Amino acid sequence: TYIVNDNCIACKYTDCVEVCPVDCFYEGENMLVIHPDECIDCGVCEPECPADAIRPDTEPDMEKWVEFNRKYSEKW
Ligand code: SF4
Repeated sequence: TYIVNDNCIACKYTDCVEVCPVDCFYEGENMLVIHPDECIDCGVCEPECPADAIRPDTEPDMEKWVEFNRKYSEKW
């Protein structure tokens, strides 16, 4: 699963949303988030992000960002 972090705040690009094959990006309050259960881990969004805000959840200390992404993607 890929997850969006706070580098996304105030970023106006939506290149990631356009390439996602399963449409699992959602709009949070001031940044985009990825629904962690809908992401199929394809990785195509990661190089599209100009802010380096999309990281795999296998990196260290990602738990809080996974929960943040889940919280804001389930409001819909
Ligand atoms: Fe969508 Fe693939 Fe990025 Fe997951 S890794 S958010 S499925 S583009």
